[in-house]
Amino acid sequence: MITFDDVTVTYGDFTALPQLDLTIDEGEFFTLLGPSGCGKSTALRTLAGFVTPSRGRIIVAGRDVTRATPDKRGVGMVFQNYALFPSMNVRDNIAFGLATRRTAAAELRRRVDEIAEQVNLSPEQLDKNISELSGGQQQRVAIARALILKPSILLLDEPLSNLDAKLRQQLRVQLKDLQSQFGITTVYVTHDQDEALSMSDRIAVMNQGRIEQFGAPAELYDAS
Ligand code: ADP
Ligand code: ADP
Repeated sequence: MITFDDVTVTYGDFTALPQLDLTIDEGEFFTLLGPSGCGKSTALRTLAGFVTPSRGRIIVAGRDVTRATPDKRGVGMVFQNYALFPSMNVRDNIAFGLATRRTAAAELRRRVDEIAEQVNLSPEQLDKNISELSGGQQQRVAIARALILKPSILLLDEPLSNLDAKLRQQLRVQLKDLQSQFGITTVYVTHDQDEALSMSDRIAVMNQGRIEQFGAPAELYDAS
């Protein structure tokens, strides 16, 4: 489904990813795990099309997307800080991705209602301002905004790190349920080992831009 083929990413003189090779299967929950600064976000942003590799190829569903713009890759991304628009209400935030594609108003309304229900946002919440929502609710808005474009791949960059411990536990389960409900190929970034082990089908453990360990949680657990 997704292949990083010999992908190198540099920031000026600094090589954040040296020759990354990685294959992610269709429908799996795949996690990039590692300490801050190891290159997880860089790998995710390269897949999303916000960073261009200096070498190598990104293949998605058999198509070379290395030079494709983010909107042409069939990926939806949820950022660590959610990157929602504070001056817009929930409905308009969710609709944003579609509204720019000149979708008719009635269709837009229907799609927002549908996706909101799927991520468990109530109709009343749709009229609220972003600042009136809890962190967990804001996260659902960010996920809805990513899913409304019906991407084949969902990218999640540390989506739980801004939440308190109790909520993190609940949302782990909810995120996982959502992923299996949609059957959507998911690439998840975290520095939290428990999170990775409890949620993932497979994990790549990264260090300094390289993959140090790779496998299903049980395999990694046995090896450590
Ligand atoms: P992680 O997501 O694992 O925390 P990042 O991919 O954000 O790691 O960063 C990997 C390395 O690249 C870090 O050393 C970071 O400082 C550096 N880096 C990330 N983005 C930039 C940038 N835009 N310019 C320069 N260096 C960057
Ligand atoms: P994350 O928490 O996702 O790893 P960071 O907080 O490290 O992200 O970085 C936030 C933003 O700052 C990113 O857009 C990243 O590209 C940029 N950045 C990170 N490290 C550096 C750096 N050393 N120099 C310049 N920009 C950086």
